[in-house]
Amino acid sequence: MKSKLEIRYYNVLDSIKEKALEVGRDYNNIKLVAVSKTFPVEVIKEAYEIGIRIFGENYAQELRDKSKLLESYDIEWHYIGRIQLNKLKYIVPVSRLIHSVTRIEELKEINKLCRKYNKVQEILIQVNISGEETKAGLKPDEVGDFLRETVDFERVKIVGFMTMAPFTDNKEIIRNVFKNARVLLEKFSSEFSNLKELSMGMSNDYLIAIEEGATILRIGSKIFGERG
Ligand SMILES: *Cc1c(COP(=O)(O)O)cnc(C)c1O
Repeated sequence: MKSKLEIRYYNVLDSIKEKALEVGRDYNNIKLVAVSKTFPVEVIKEAYEIGIRIFGENYAQELRDKSKLLESYDIEWHYIGRIQLNKLKYIVPVSRLIHSVTRIEELKEINKLCRKYNKVQEILIQVNISGEETKAGLKPDEVGDFLRETVDFERVKIVGFMTMAPFTDNKEIIRNVFKNARVLLEKFSSEFSNLKELSMGMSNDYLIAIEEGATILRIGSKIFGERG
């Protein structure tokens, strides 16, 4: 018998495939990050058995602890939370992609840690398209200068942007945020050829995000159930 987790996961996968087909996109160009924050490692193991390999966490110590407990698993970890400089030492050694960089000091510290761990860190810049004060991220008109400053960090590779839509039922507001993120990416992608990824779309809005060009979806509750 299929578990609840399995049923939810395949429902999400099917809906992504269906939407991609509908809008003429290649499903293989859309990466699903299963956001496992607050769920225990047992749940991640169960998800792994189903075939999930990419997990997103947004607390640094939680990422450190879980990745250590699951060291023998072939998991691709993504860090999607707010960044504190002194916690980057927990994030950089284990993260394939950091979605949420907003400050040059963060890049400086990441670059330093990358030398220590002998890696190149792929990164997304978080942009605050909606302009909400509670949201982290660069304003769209700050992105150009920021990108030009990043070229000094030889071990940091900026591969795209992450954004979050406002918490609203208004689909057009959500759509506009995603659309503007894509326009921003297109604006800079000839000058910065590594810019390809758009991390946008969560449980409540990922289908709109696919329509607007998301390449990475961050989905938690729709896969794992409501967080306690
Ligand atoms: C929690 C979280 C998600 C997933 O949210 P759901 O609504 O549960 O899908 C995605 N992105 C970020 C940055 C998050 O913190």
